[in-house]
This record gives sequence, structure tokens and C-alpha cells, in this order.
Amino acid sequence: MGLIGLCEGKDVGLIAMKALAGGLISDARAAFAFLRQYQNVAPIWGLQAEAELDEFLAYEQAPPVLDEAMWEIIKQYRAELSGEFCRGCGYCLPCPAEIPIPMASRMSFILKRSFFQKYLSEDWRRKMELIEECINCGHCREHCPYELDPPRLLKKNLQDYREFYQKYLKNKA
Ligand code: SF4
Ligand code: SF4
Repeated sequence: MGLIGLCEGKDVGLIAMKALAGGLISDARAAFAFLRQYQNVAPIWGLQAEAELDEFLAYEQAPPVLDEAMWEIIKQYRAELSGEFCRGCGYCLPCPAEIPIPMASRMSFILKRSFFQKYLSEDWRRKMELIEECINCGHCREHCPYELDPPRLLKKNLQDYREFYQKYLKNKA
């Protein structure tokens, strides 16, 4: 039995933190339809704009249906955002090298989203390059509740980031 079912059996509710995975789940309809099936789950969506609030209020009035097409979308998200996926919780901070671990270790995913441009700024390029300054102190590894290996994850994300940025510059030229 899954955790939600177990809680339901004991008449316990859950709060689903970061129900849109910090913006990585860009199909809000799918996230809403998925969580709507559980009566004992209260999502925290992390909305940042009034338009997003309006969108979710509209879903309350006319909930998206969890049909086969919606399950396909959910399956794709599950495949992409599982396993070695940083949830952006920030429990690994502070980092003595000042690496913004919660964002930097998800950068490969962020670059696939429509809002990637702001992460190519000079400021973000500098922040990503801080990954080279990792002193391997182990603080992040010891504090990650998902038992991830952030230094390794960060290096992979830095490599993806550099490649993406070079391609971006080439396409712009
Ligand atoms: S191991 Fe590296 S990334 Fe992790 S906290 Fe230490 S310096 Fe920061
Ligand atoms: S590396 Fe772990 S602790 Fe740090 S933000 Fe990601 S999931 Fe949270």
C-alpha cells in the first residue's frame, strides 16, 4: 500500500509540498488531476502570480479529468523526475562554496523548460561555475533527505549547462 493509502486508512491527511516540483511540472492540469484523486492530500502549489491562482481556481470549478491521455503525461513526468532527481528542498544548504545547490543540481531539467532564458544570464553563469569550487566537504550529502550525491549531480549539471549555453550562443549567431 502506498503512503497516501496508508494515511487514509488511519484517517490522516498529508500536505504535498512543491506539488509542481518547483516549476518543473509545467502541465498544471496533470498535477491537479493527479492530486485531486486523493481526498486526504492538500497540495501546496507554490503559485507566484495572480494568473496562476486564477488558473487553479478555474480547475476547482471544472476539474481536469484523469483520463488515459492525462495518465500518459503523468507517466512521462514520472520517468523524467524520479530517481536521482533533486527536489529543490534546500536541506543541503548552506554550502561553504556558496553553490546554489537546489537550483544548480536541477539545471539540466530547467533548461528543458520554456523559462530557461533567465538562467543563462551572466549572474547565473557565474553561479553555475561555482560548482568548480566545491571542496567536497560532504555537508550536502549528509543532509540530503533523498540520499543524493549533490557534488556528482552538480558536476553533471554543470557539464549540461555549458553544452547548452554553447549551443544557445551558436544558434543566436
Ligand atoms: S560538498 Fe561541495 S557542494 Fe556540497 S556543501 Fe560541500 S562544497 Fe558545497
Ligand atoms: S540535493 Fe537533496 S537536500 Fe539539496 S535541494 Fe536537492 S533534494 Fe534537497
